[in-house]
Amino acid sequence: MAAYTDMEHIRFVLHEMLQASTLCEFERYKDYDKEAFDILIDSTKDYADKFMYPLLKEMDEQPAHYKDGKIIVHPAVGKFMKYCGENGSIGSTFDYEHGGMQLPHTVYSAVSHIVQAANNALPGYTGLTQGAADLLVTYASPELIEKYVPKMMKGEWGGTMCLTEPQAGSSLSDITTTAYPQEDGSYKIKGQKIFISGGDHEYADNIVHLLIGRIEGAPAGTKGISLFVVPKKRINEDGSLESNDVITAGDFQKMGQRGYCTTHLVFGENDDCRAWLVGAENRGLKNMFQMMNGARIDVGLTAASVASAAYHASLQYAKERPQGRRIQAGGVKNTNQEQTTIINHPDVRRMLHLQEAVTEACISLLLTASNYQDRAHFGPEEERQKYHELLELITPIAKTYPSEMGRVSVSNGLQVLGGYGFCQDFPLEQYYRDIRIMALYEGTTGIQSLDLLGRKVIMNNGSAMKHLTKEFISTIKEATSFDDLKPYAEQLKSASKELASTTQHLLTFAMQGDHERYIADATVYMEMMSNIVIAWQWLKMATIAKTALVSGNTIQSTSFYERKVHTMKFYFKYELPKIAACKHTLHSEDNLTIPEANQVAFS
Ligand SMILES: Cc1cc2nc3c(=O)[nH]c(=O)nc-3n(C[C@H](O)[C@H](O)[C@H](O)COP(=O)(O)OP(=O)(O)OC[C@H]3O[C@@H](n4cnc5c(N)ncnc54)[C@H](O)[C@@H]3O)c2cc1C
Repeated sequence: MAAYTDMEHIRFVLHEMLQASTLCEFERYKDYDKEAFDILIDSTKDYADKFMYPLLKEMDEQPAHYKDGKIIVHPAVGKFMKYCGENGSIGSTFDYEHGGMQLPHTVYSAVSHIVQAANNALPGYTGLTQGAADLLVTYASPELIEKYVPKMMKGEWGGTMCLTEPQAGSSLSDITTTAYPQEDGSYKIKGQKIFISGGDHEYADNIVHLLIGRIEGAPAGTKGISLFVVPKKRINEDGSLESNDVITAGDFQKMGQRGYCTTHLVFGENDDCRAWLVGAENRGLKNMFQMMNGARIDVGLTAASVASAAYHASLQYAKERPQGRRIQAGGVKNTNQEQTTIINHPDVRRMLHLQEAVTEACISLLLTASNYQDRAHFGPEEERQKYHELLELITPIAKTYPSEMGRVSVSNGLQVLGGYGFCQDFPLEQYYRDIRIMALYEGTTGIQSLDLLGRKVIMNNGSAMKHLTKEFISTIKEATSFDDLKPYAEQLKSASKELASTTQHLLTFAMQGDHERYIADATVYMEMMSNIVIAWQWLKMATIAKTALVSGNTIQSTSFYERKVHTMKFYFKYELPKIAACKHTLHSEDNLTIPEANQVAFS
């Protein structure tokens, strides 16, 4: 079986970078220790090897589809939901009182990475069920929690996130699905939702939709959006189920993630679709953000995981494929010599290094985000606000960088295979198709970038940015204690200053009231800032590796740590300098994309 992740890297991030066992000092996680975390990730890998990875291609070849009013999915979906329900993993991070395991998010993300890398079509079914149940636990009444959550945790019922409508994708303020109050306190729902992942299938007895809509007469825009629970089947007093007028109208046929159904749902076609309010009226979008933020981290993690699987497949191929000869001194090739394997060509090594650099830093960034989540909720009181702000700031980057650069890295991986990369005999073409969705759903790259520059960078007077800058400074200081890391620490220091001055430059547009100009190149800003954040992750990894090498206090092989330093150098040589181009664009006086100033364009 081909490798799809590197367990040594996961352990390095978990134990050496993030010191995951220190989380066990928090009251919430006191029942865990390092050994328990290791057993969990090893057993997950074993299951993913045996059950998930072997089905990756088959699920792509037998896509989810609509037939006779039903969504047909691969039978593995049923087995996976049952397995996750029985072993408690749907409720991994939930409170004990709700039947959960109180597992740290940091460790849960490591587990999620392994399963996503093995097979990115399956975990979405349980992931959305978990997100929907989590939303109920946080905002719903005890009666609603009691009614829905236990079955969802057991994997008997699925869960979804119903936001998108045909006329309202990025702009959720334009949703029109309407809720009509009923005398018994419930609501009748009318509307359509499209692109709903895991929206219907035969392996769940019921599907619990967490849906946003407007109560009749509610204010326009986001201030009039409420959150509802809308089951596919209503639950009668005696526990039996009856249809709730949720009609499945179709399944979108996609270029990738074909094993994961994407449904079109019609609510209340026969005026008989009942819903119950979750949380306060008109607070729906704010509450839904809990699920959306979690899903953004999940999407980033999935992208990192697909990129990881692609990297390992390319690496294996490059080690086995003989082609061409090395160039000898004087620029000659000796054709009498046997062909070399392609891993010896510098250009192939460059592509593999790019994959490695992107993949490993993405995994460390995503686990860091989850670590912030643990610390923001359960860490020492006085630190919670800081980690909360760091998580808020880092979320759009943790979603976007793996989605965008993960795709670039998979493309490089496909290139490593030459023509075979384009063919179905190898998994690269599937990974390339599968990863493409990541930059689209859960808020496109454009929308994430608006969130980063338009909200997160300036929130609380730039307080989150100040925290992040302090994190950079702390890593730079530690790296500076090693002579050979000093030049890289200097590079990160100056990149961080460039980011600060670029942010200030853009803010002058906002201060002059020209908000559209301030935000017009938010995606370029995202590219610049993400690149610096990833450089920070690499410098951090290299410093930890160097500390282990110098002290001799090594958990992994010496070459493992040396590789980390080497890959950091690759990132600083090939990727970090790209921020200069972003800076140039962001400081340019030319205003070329705002319609009024450029009527000649696209005329
Ligand atoms: C496979 C799949 C699964 C999905 N799963 C779910 C799900 O489970 N639940 C759910 O609710 N939705 C789901 N979605 C919907 C998904 O979140 C939306 O497709 C996405 O938010 C984009 O909306 P849209 O497709 O309407 O594109 P649009 O909003 O029309 O965007 C088109 C383009 O315009 C850009 N754009 C739009 N507005 C702006 C702006 N103000 N400023 C700058 N650029 C802008 C976008 O960045 C994009 O490039 C899924 C979609 C797919 C394809």
